[in-house]
Amino acid sequence: MTLKENLLKALNGEKVEKVPVLSVTQTGVVELMDLVDAPWPESHTNAEKMADLAIAAHELAGLEAVRLPYCLTVLAEAMGCDINMGTKNRQPSVIGHPFDKPEKLEEFEMPDLANAGRIPAVIEAIKISREKVGPDVPIIAGMEGPITLASDIVSVKSFMKWSIKKPDDLEKSLVIATEASIIYANLMVDAGADVICIADPVASPDLMSPQDFKEKLMKHIVEFAEKVNAPVILHVCGNVTPIIEYMADCKCKGLSVEEKVTDIANAKQIASGKAIIIGNVSSPFVLLSGDEEKVTEASLNALNDGVDILAPGCGIAPMTPLDNIKAMVAARDKFYE
Ligand SMILES: [Zn+2]
Repeated sequence: MTLKENLLKALNGEKVEKVPVLSVTQTGVVELMDLVDAPWPESHTNAEKMADLAIAAHELAGLEAVRLPYCLTVLAEAMGCDINMGTKNRQPSVIGHPFDKPEKLEEFEMPDLANAGRIPAVIEAIKISREKVGPDVPIIAGMEGPITLASDIVSVKSFMKWSIKKPDDLEKSLVIATEASIIYANLMVDAGADVICIADPVASPDLMSPQDFKEKLMKHIVEFAEKVNAPVILHVCGNVTPIIEYMADCKCKGLSVEEKVTDIANAKQIASGKAIIIGNVSSPFVLLSGDEEKVTEASLNALNDGVDILAPGCGIAPMTPLDNIKAMVAARDKFYE
């Protein structure tokens, strides 16, 4: 069985020979950037370097997928947001929000996304990756989810305010963001991505109530998952235990959760038959700051808890030691010895 078949089986909830070990969240770490000469911020814009860094996480760290790009700002930028491109060890961030007033949102026109911002570079990087790793290694394309994109274009401040005082404007921003997200995701699928992972930190119970998630947000994720021509993984940061039942109804094949979700068995039971559970080795507290022993222990715990895909709980921090990522992969192998 190829790595791609193994991953797609896992996402379908079918029995697998080995639980896949990979990252559905960002994989760019400084050690890999140095090894393949693909540093940030250059590898956010240069397709060749973007592909090289993504492939390095597969070939040199052993992760069982190629996952790219490395930020949650590509689509936001294409939609007109201002971006700070960050540094070698700091991710890009959205710093300007073009539609932060309802009257500005009225004037929104969908850009030609295929040719906007860094989208052509991401598309090219997916094609280069496929060319280099062949058909049997899965490619996971990551992006900001529709909820987070909506908050990017209107600003988190307006997004939160409108969620209480201007529900029609909130809905309008979500409709626009969802439409753009679907277009972008399908461009990546057409380029060769096997799986789309949306990271939607703004949908977290840390920011929006479970009731808001259920009543205002989740239908947009459902529409996204239904209209994207590949399996979708939904990553939401924080302790998502209160919204797991709604996340499970979002038509996504996999739910990627952090270590803050402490009861994986419970999450699995709630999502049973609807979505698999992916995670949940702590990115900051184990992979970044722990040693190999701690990574091994956390990985074996996650596997014993029953994660369907062993993965970091959130984006891998850029200063994470390569040996710790390798230790996560080795722990999966050890689990089957
Ligand atoms: Zn996260």
